[in-house]
Amino acid sequence: MSRHPQFAVFGHPISHSLSPLIHQAFAQQFGIALDYRTIDAPADTFAEAVKRFFEQEGGRGANVTLPHKAAAYALADERTQAATHVGTANVLTRQADGRLVAHNTDGAGLVRDLTDRHDLDLRGHDALLLGAGGAARAVAWSLFEAGVQTLTIVNRSPQAADVVADAIGEPARVHTRYWEDLGNIGCFDLIVNATSAGTLGQSLTLPFALAGARAVCYDLGYGKSAFSFLAWARAAGALHAYDGLGMLVEQAADAFELWHHKRPDTEPVYQQLKAHIA
Ligand code: NDP
Repeated sequence: MSRHPQFAVFGHPISHSLSPLIHQAFAQQFGIALDYRTIDAPADTFAEAVKRFFEQEGGRGANVTLPHKAAAYALADERTQAATHVGTANVLTRQADGRLVAHNTDGAGLVRDLTDRHDLDLRGHDALLLGAGGAARAVAWSLFEAGVQTLTIVNRSPQAADVVADAIGEPARVHTRYWEDLGNIGCFDLIVNATSAGTLGQSLTLPFALAGARAVCYDLGYGKSAFSFLAWARAAGALHAYDGLGMLVEQAADAFELWHHKRPDTEPVYQQLKAHIA
């Protein structure tokens, strides 16, 4: 077994995070003895905690989750193209020269879960994205890049949806509608719930008419937080309804590969997590 320097996930709260379990499972596939820990950092201590981790404690890479994704993007010395498009980072890597690089693997994680695990060809799909927060922004860009024909973004606060659409800058294919209009905007092949309603214990009230006959519905949340949206999708007659557990594992696999230059097999870890949260 080889010994690796430190990796961590920063968040607040962080005790619920599945990242340690996922990264340890990936590491086992390669016989790596991984030193990976959770670091609970309230917003006002985040920058200092990151600095200490990378500059004094030998940190080589970190996952970043709520509420620090924008702060992680801002404090990095360099940003990948994906992170720049999204304006937030969920992964930090430390280069040999000490510079911190911000990455965003969330959107790629969703697309790989849909295309590889669930065998969906996104090209030509009319997609509806609910929500316009940090995750929605990552997802919007990646869905667009993956070739959806149109992307309609709807958010409770309409200005935030406009910001996400404007960042992509393709008004012929990417546009916004008001939440109040959900009842009369037609139906979609792909509906992605990127709101945090489920996580907050709230239910969305959505018209059944949104789901077309071949609709695939996807909630970025998983476990209990996805229950309400997935129940709606099934009642609306969607062809498939998936939660965001696969996205979580896929975005982590990208981080693992950035740090260890090895591509883990995500399927056994996905199955392990499914059993873990059931
Ligand atoms: P943000 O806080 O940045 O954004 C929250 C979004 O949800 C906003 O658009 C907000 O609308 C909307 N929202 C919240 N409550 C409601 C409601 N009751 N009705 C309608 N809209 C609502 O969160 P993130 O974008 O970071 O995360 C969103 C979700 O995605 C979370 O559940 C998170 O756990 C999940 N996630 C999953 C990942 C995975 O790997 N599976 C990765 C990243 C995130 P408004 O602007 O009007 O407030």
